[in-house]
Amino acid sequence: MARVLLKNVTKVFGDVVAVNKLNLEVKDGEFMVLLGPSGCGKSTTLRLIAGLETPTEGEIWIGDKLVNDIDPTKRNVAMVFQNYALYPHMTVFGNIEFPLKMAGVPKSERIKKVKEIADFLGIGDLLNRKPSELSGGQQQRVALARALVREPEVFLLDEPLSNLDAKIRTQMRFELKKLLSYDLKITTIYVTHDQVEAMTMADRIAVMNKGVIQQVGTPDEIFYKPKNTFVATFVGSPQMNLIEGEIIKKDGKVIFDCGEFSLRLPEDLNIEGRVILGFRPQHVEVSEMPREDFIEGKLIGIEKLGVESYAHPAYGDVEIIIRVPEELKIKERKIYWRPSLTRIYLFDPRTGELIY
Ligand code: ATP
Repeated sequence: MARVLLKNVTKVFGDVVAVNKLNLEVKDGEFMVLLGPSGCGKSTTLRLIAGLETPTEGEIWIGDKLVNDIDPTKRNVAMVFQNYALYPHMTVFGNIEFPLKMAGVPKSERIKKVKEIADFLGIGDLLNRKPSELSGGQQQRVALARALVREPEVFLLDEPLSNLDAKIRTQMRFELKKLLSYDLKITTIYVTHDQVEAMTMADRIAVMNKGVIQQVGTPDEIFYKPKNTFVATFVGSPQMNLIEGEIIKKDGKVIFDCGEFSLRLPEDLNIEGRVILGFRPQHVEVSEMPREDFIEGKLIGIEKLGVESYAHPAYGDVEIIIRVPEELKIKERKIYWRPSLTRIYLFDPRTGELIY
């Protein structure tokens, strides 16, 4: 096992800066998820660590070795791609054996190692089949077995579950996490744009946007203490409400005013002037009757998602999403609500950085 360290790594393709001065340390045995929207530079970062791309600038360390000039085959990393890239003409056995053959491992040892890893991953009965005779989940396991059979120090996965259907994906998510973090305890870097995958699997998440890391933290830190509006809205579903407005102090009261409505904020708040107010749809108090300090809202829609319902009050251009309790009786499309004052966030409207 080994830690991975990226120091000021930049990768430029023509006029695209795919990765911009990236600094990241993945600890020995850690499960790090790179999370971000399409095109933010996640795959490029992974390919740089694998040695499939060369950095334009910066250093990449694996263990205590600077690997910038080390061939991919000598880095002791293994990578699994989204499409698995199994060899269609080879059996499952042949596919898993292939990297050992390339490394010149003797036949008897190859047989032993292939059987061991196949049994470990629950595909020991499938060794004589061809990839086309396997389900998506089984193919995925073969790809994992082929990558793990050489016992790499670092394991890199690029959206490995995105080709599976929703049910198998949930099951494989759990299995993969168990295998990599608890059974093998291998240093893993996992790329996804799926926040649920990131939140459920990661020890820590690095959220990326436009080639730049926005925040690195545990799933709880990312969710509860987002550093800026990008992280705040990228993680969490439905996404965090953000409303721009002004904080004014009057007669000992602290009021947030967005032009369409105003809201009392905690009295000890020491911020004035323009802000972006943020609150999650789940962190709202809701009433069917008018209540002091609650905001009256005219509903433009209600969305029922099985156990949960979300209401959409709107004020001019400001649209809000709030979770409503099932038993709430909404009359005349009116709702009364306010964010839970202990769960609000304030961001600087110029930089998007969290200020409260
Ligand atoms: P996705 O989730 O869609 O795979 P990503 O976050 O993994 O996206 P990258 O594939 O790393 O993003 O791409 C980052 C940026 O670099 C994109 O703008 C992409 O078009 C560009 N890019 C990636 N590889 C190359 C290449 N070989 N040549 C030119 N541009 C590239």
